[in-house]
Amino acid sequence: MTSIPDITLNNGQTIPQFGFGTFQIEPKETMVAVTTALDAGYRHIDTAEMYGNEAEVGEAIARSDLDRGEVFVTSKLSNDAHEPDEARQAFEGTLKALGTDYVDLFLIHWPLPTRYGGDFVQTWRTLEEFYREGRARSIGVSNFQPYQLRRLHGETQIIPAVDQIEVHPYLTQDEVRAFCVEHQIAIEAWSPLGQGLVLGDPVIRSIAERTGKTPAQVVLRWHIQRGDVVFPKSVTPDRIRENIDIFDFELSAADIEDITALNKNERTGGDPDKFDGR
Ligand code: NAD
Repeated sequence: MTSIPDITLNNGQTIPQFGFGTFQIEPKETMVAVTTALDAGYRHIDTAEMYGNEAEVGEAIARSDLDRGEVFVTSKLSNDAHEPDEARQAFEGTLKALGTDYVDLFLIHWPLPTRYGGDFVQTWRTLEEFYREGRARSIGVSNFQPYQLRRLHGETQIIPAVDQIEVHPYLTQDEVRAFCVEHQIAIEAWSPLGQGLVLGDPVIRSIAERTGKTPAQVVLRWHIQRGDVVFPKSVTPDRIRENIDIFDFELSAADIEDITALNKNERTGGDPDKFDGR
């Protein structure tokens, strides 16, 4: 079985560096996709209230041969539930849908600078409650920029364990990554394949040919060697297995540099400074 490295978060908890993403997986396809991933050796599943598939993720884990403690589960707060009471209710809903009494990691999905009076601090304090209660083993944020992380740092008690942001070879996010390294916040790279956008790139294709790996495997390996956490999404069984098969080769320092140099600050998803989550 593939051996996936763990990363130790700033609160001492560990997270498998590689997992399975479930954005845009229809609820009716989720059971099969997550089961295929667990069978292939994935032990970390990333979902969210807004993906509408938490119940099916929970069911796939429950029906597997694995104990709850063997699978790292992340979910995220709905953009429509940032007020503290709504957030408490939404968190209850997440636990109920997943059929579990704790999540390994719970995130504020988006900072939403144009809603809730721009007050993500009250939302973060509510996540701190879930952490103190032990119902979220770690808490973190998603799509936060350094100025927003700095505000949390100054005004709240707990430093986010992770910042989950869009990262791929066309969007290397050097500024956020530097801030997070300095403050011991792990980076989770969402859309690690740029939703497929980067896979035709000639530089990536040529490294794939030389190493005998696929473009997707080369890109995922680049993330792993940079130290980020990744969870590519696929519903195709062969691709689910292909994506985890990246722990038997290494990219050279020159390969890493060449891929990093492809950056063009190109987003595939929302811009966190503008996105209102609707
Ligand atoms: P991704 O970069 O993982 O790309 C997925 C797409 O790439 C698939 O739909 C498929 O078209 C293609 N693909 C996958 N494996 C392939 C392979 N081996 N060969 C060729 N093509 C392949 O994109 P994503 O799903 O957007 O991101 C991954 C996960 O990150 C999500 O599922 C979700 O869990 C998380 N995410 C979080 C946020 C956030 O705001 N926090 C936003 C987007 C995604």
